[in-house]
Amino acid sequence: MSKVVKFGGSSLADANQFKKVAEIIRADPERVYVVPSAPGKRFKDDTKVTDLLYQCYELVLTGEDFAKAFAPVRERYNEIIKELGLKVSLEEEYVKIGQSFRAGANRDYAASRGEYLNGILLADYLGFAFVDAAKGIFFDSKGNFDAAVTNACLGAILEKTPKAVIPGFYGAMPDGTIKTFSRGGSDFTGSLVAKAAGASLYENWTDVSGFLVADPRIVDKPAGIEVITYSELRELSYMGAGVLHEDAIFPVRSANIPINIKNTNAPDDAGTLIVPTADSNTKFLVTGIAGKKDFSAISIEKDRLNSENGFMRRMLQVLENHGIFPEHMPTGIDTVSVVVNSHELGDADNRAKLVNRLKDVLRPDHFEIIDGLALIAVVGRGMKSKKGTATRVFAALSHAEINVRMIDQGSSELNIIIGIDEKDFEKAIKVIYDMFILSEQPETK
Ligand code: ADP
Ligand code: ASP
Ligand code: MG
Repeated sequence: MSKVVKFGGSSLADANQFKKVAEIIRADPERVYVVPSAPGKRFKDDTKVTDLLYQCYELVLTGEDFAKAFAPVRERYNEIIKELGLKVSLEEEYVKIGQSFRAGANRDYAASRGEYLNGILLADYLGFAFVDAAKGIFFDSKGNFDAAVTNACLGAILEKTPKAVIPGFYGAMPDGTIKTFSRGGSDFTGSLVAKAAGASLYENWTDVSGFLVADPRIVDKPAGIEVITYSELRELSYMGAGVLHEDAIFPVRSANIPINIKNTNAPDDAGTLIVPTADSNTKFLVTGIAGKKDFSAISIEKDRLNSENGFMRRMLQVLENHGIFPEHMPTGIDTVSVVVNSHELGDADNRAKLVNRLKDVLRPDHFEIIDGLALIAVVGRGMKSKKGTATRVFAALSHAEINVRMIDQGSSELNIIIGIDEKDFEKAIKVIYDMFILSEQPETK
């Protein structure tokens, strides 16, 4: 059986990290397909190579000489080559990249070179074959990831390549131009490689010992999650728990391949295992807490709106026509509020048009847009069978004098979403964490 191992940017930030990665791969002969990110930050205020490449692209657009704009990127790779004593040279690749820039290559092409060059180095260092992702990962003509074509092409390549490095983050359009996934997309590449290879496990190596109950930048030393289901993880990553790209579970989920999140800097730690289903008798009632800022609520009041035929349909039609995707829609007898990403409301002009249209179509008694909302998701597969989770969330918030602006419980009873003012975001996560993790004795099995 084969395992696919994906290493994030910080795991491959410099020569020393390359050494740790090689040691991990060599420790298990089943780790045969490797998906690298571009070199990430070596220290707190460092710049990721992907960001250097976006900067380089912008500079060249404004007329800067390519060699000068590309110098910081080149320096990062050449340092790794030198410190590892590699024989391989990237000089010809740098020339090709310069030519492509001059020929008008797109921004995605520029960004993708981070993973591409890192893949060449890692393949050389490990003695594995290098498989350019543009040869096996495809988008359709509309720019959507083409799962069927990718799975077939990549599967065929891997079948005849027993050990390979496949760079993360990008693939090719039908005409051969390069397209990237959204930021953090190497996680998605790892997942689709695992599916194409029919792997037994997808190991995602990063700089934390797995998924933590809350963002370690908000909660000091949060507890780790040993086992999490795909559905729980999806809720948490969608709500901003940045460890794994929000789409990364889809390819492996359809093939029933578990994901293990592991720490490159502490490889013996068990990390987090992500599985299709798991026992609901969890250690803590809550599996994870995550959240995001920058939401707005469109709040509409009208007497008996819930019995007005077609009210919701008309409202949603207006939103759809304005390109707005409702995130949550808690309703009452006379009220509905639609929570949306603030940026989807556009500038003042767009907002005014939307408001006028909604007022025309719905004739509300009261209408308001509330900005500056943050959403927090409290997620746990164990919540369904235990009473009082919501009560405890609200008790924690009310004790901390945090005003709850919105509540929504997913129909799967897997999560509770609450909307609060952005200024209370960090505090709210901390008090919910304290309520469920610090003050909770682990549930006895
Ligand atoms: P990589 O470069 O390996 O892909 P990322 O930076 O994308 O790594 O993801 C790992 C980071 O995610 C951690 O360093 C941590 O700061 C952040 N993070 C946010 N929420 C969580 C969480 N709930 N558990 C663990 N890490 C989290
Ligand atoms: N290097 C890309 C980014 O910084 C992709 C990734 O790391 O997953 O977003
Ligand atoms: Mg990442």
